[in-house]
Amino acid sequence: MKALTNINASSILDAVTAAQQARNNGQTVFFSGGGTDLLQQIKDGTVDADVIINLRNIADSRQIVRNATSTNIGGLITLDELSKSNQVSNVLTEAAASIATPQIRNVATLAGNITQRPWCWYYRNGFNCYKAGGNKCFSVTGENQQHAIFGGGPSFIVHPSDTAPALVALNASFVVTGPAGERELSAADFFVLPKQNPQRENSLVEGELLSSINIPEAPPNTISGYHKVMDRESWTHAEVSVAAVLTMDGSEIRSAAIALGGVATIPWKLPPVEAFLLGKQLNPSVAREAGELAVADAQPLAKNGHKVTMTSAAVEYALLSLASA
Ligand SMILES: Cc1cc2nc3c(=O)[nH]c(=O)nc-3n(C[C@H](O)[C@H](O)[C@H](O)COP(=O)(O)OP(=O)(O)OC[C@H]3O[C@@H](n4cnc5c(N)ncnc54)[C@H](O)[C@@H]3O)c2cc1C
Ligand code: SF4
Repeated sequence: MKALTNINASSILDAVTAAQQARNNGQTVFFSGGGTDLLQQIKDGTVDADVIINLRNIADSRQIVRNATSTNIGGLITLDELSKSNQVSNVLTEAAASIATPQIRNVATLAGNITQRPWCWYYRNGFNCYKAGGNKCFSVTGENQQHAIFGGGPSFIVHPSDTAPALVALNASFVVTGPAGERELSAADFFVLPKQNPQRENSLVEGELLSSINIPEAPPNTISGYHKVMDRESWTHAEVSVAAVLTMDGSEIRSAAIALGGVATIPWKLPPVEAFLLGKQLNPSVAREAGELAVADAQPLAKNGHKVTMTSAAVEYALLSLASA
């Protein structure tokens, strides 16, 4: 491993300026939150960095600030802090609590979780695929048990973040800071399909970092939850996950937002399911129909057909869990 320069940023502006200076010197720069993904990639040789800008000392980007219309969450909040907060919805605390291990949640940040790179075994093991700058996807004809059934092509990664589908279901927007200042993006503009850019998972450009997340205040009688299915009890990403946010009028659904994790190249919203649920009673037959509808457009690869059945069952289960909440 080659020598690296570590710069401890004291503010978001400081971080952006330091990154710009390093880039002007011809150096390759990466921002680091908890470093749980980045440092492993540097060690494995899948990321080649000259300079790391360490964001962890930026205390004022670890806070949750609520006002009458929205909640702003600093990107540097750790997953552990987020999972224990009583200022955000269940869907987000449950998603954060489901991630990896207590040790990783103690250091990993929300922004780092959202911007972590794919965990496809080809990419992580040094294959020169689209994500590594090449022009081939090895999973299409290779091992694709864990790959996407929605939004695939030319890469078939699954978006790895558990917090991302929860944030998408909460209609969050993403505050990005860079040399040109600050901009706020909807999820639809922040997350990028491989057909838009096969190398990246989001629309951050060089020198930009994710500084915070805004979540609009939910209407009264909104309930939410996160259901995650894994291939073992803990320490791993989702086979499929469902972030569900429902606003109720008694037992009738007034509005619904459902987003999937673990099965698509980006956090995957389900507009047809959301439309179907409007005005319905939250009961077992509605939940089952919603589960069937959820996979109507699924496009499994040769070895991941199990994800279709799992997704349908997971959506049904997530809705039934909210019915009994
Ligand atoms: C055993 C294991 C199990 C795991 N299980 C899960 C799981 O179940 N669910 C899940 O969601 N994740 C899982 N992960 C991934 C883990 O959650 C991520 O590594 C972690 O969330 C990344 O956060 P971080 O702050 O450490 O990011 P870092 O490692 O610091 O950064 C990750 C990436 O994001 C970039 N980055 C960091 N901060 C910013 C920023 N503010 N703006 C722009 N770019 C930034 C970095 O340059 C890097 O490319 C697992 C990881 C391991 C090792
Ligand atoms: S799925 Fe994406 S990361 Fe995996 S081999 Fe294909 S292009 Fe590479």
